[in-house]
Amino acid sequence: MAVRFRYDAPRSQALFDRACAVIPGGVNSPVRAFRAVGGTPRFMTVGRGPYLVDADGREYVDLVCSWGPMILGHAFPPVVEAVQRAAANGLSFGTPTPGEVDLAEAIVALVAPVQQVRLVNSGTEATMSAIRLARGVTGRGKVVKFAGCYHGHVDALLASAGSGLATFALPDTPGVTGAQAADTMVLPYNDIDAVDKAFVEYGDQIACVITEAAAGNMGVVPPLDGFNARLKQVCAQYGALLVSDEVMTGFRVSAAGWYGLDPVDADVFTFGKVMSGGLPAAAFGGRADVMAALAPAGPVYQAGTLSGNPVAVAAGLATLTHCTPEVYQRVDEVSLTLQRAVGTALTEAGVEHTVQFAGSMFSVFFADHPVVNFTDARAQETARYTAFFHAMLARGVYLPPSAYESWFVSAAHDDAALDRVLDALPHAARAAAEVRS
Ligand SMILES: *Cc1c(COP(=O)(O)O)cnc(C)c1O
Repeated sequence: MAVRFRYDAPRSQALFDRACAVIPGGVNSPVRAFRAVGGTPRFMTVGRGPYLVDADGREYVDLVCSWGPMILGHAFPPVVEAVQRAAANGLSFGTPTPGEVDLAEAIVALVAPVQQVRLVNSGTEATMSAIRLARGVTGRGKVVKFAGCYHGHVDALLASAGSGLATFALPDTPGVTGAQAADTMVLPYNDIDAVDKAFVEYGDQIACVITEAAAGNMGVVPPLDGFNARLKQVCAQYGALLVSDEVMTGFRVSAAGWYGLDPVDADVFTFGKVMSGGLPAAAFGGRADVMAALAPAGPVYQAGTLSGNPVAVAAGLATLTHCTPEVYQRVDEVSLTLQRAVGTALTEAGVEHTVQFAGSMFSVFFADHPVVNFTDARAQETARYTAFFHAMLARGVYLPPSAYESWFVSAAHDDAALDRVLDALPHAARAAAEVRS
């Protein structure tokens, strides 16, 4: 097996060998290492529209889109031009800049309950700061999160997290102390009774509930009808804040993110991915009275040397500006076409599966049951995904290298790119069918 992979991608393999000597595991974010699917991670050198080109010169239709940000496709000219213009004027000043005001105004205009927003550098920073803010505002310590929801690598939130941790089935991680996780309560996703019980017992100690607006880090698991609204009710009843983590869904599943599809007035929202346009930028925002607790307006400290960086902000603003109704319409169409084609190919090959979606985000579970929580998500045959993944890769389609990740599409996915995916699917479905369970 290893020999075949090496033969498949010699330049990527040589780069990976060098990387492993100087970077832990050879990568700067674990899922990129292909450990869940095996083989040589592809080192990408060029992104153009719906395509990525690897170090061996092979082209792939990209269904990862940098894990969400590239909704307009790779190297979208107006975004690249905005970045070039901003860069030519200086890379960072450590002062306020006009662009960050423009971006904050754009976010506030798009997501109705967000009255003020603070820019940060990563989704992790956004959720970490949102939780600090919730604790500062309420004077309480406990945080409720849901199993399988991933909110970045924040110490307190690395308990039953999805994404890389789901992939590696780590219940927790060394390096997070008992004290750091002790105030985190992990409940099953989509289980409002569990939330009610937690509040009955600890209601006066809970600072916030944090939830992915629609879960996409254990595969795609949308909230059941009314789940997010009930969370808001329970939080309001007990004086806790609801933090809606829209880092993945924000500006992707609609112009107003998941809020646009399921308008629940969370107290704090977190954003990243699409709003960064592919550079490191993220944000958290919410009601003005809550955000007023942040320094220097209020007592809760939060800061960042590169926060609101002019180049990152230019990329984010250009991206949001070009996310027109036509872009969302195209992304929805592409997603629906692929969902149907994946389902058809697997059905024809006789492979049990469930395709789930939240807006244009979708994923495939190799299981015969619907998935509403992390326990369901883990009851799937990931070996089938491995075979499916490599068959697609061999035919020039780049899928997430893990069964626990959402697939992402862009408005640049034209019919030629779609055709390549559609042609590859029956082969991949047969490869999945051949895996002995
Ligand atoms: C990606 C993601 C994060 C973390 O963002 P980073 O920029 O990787 O730190 C947080 N929450 C959700 C829902 C995400 O999908």
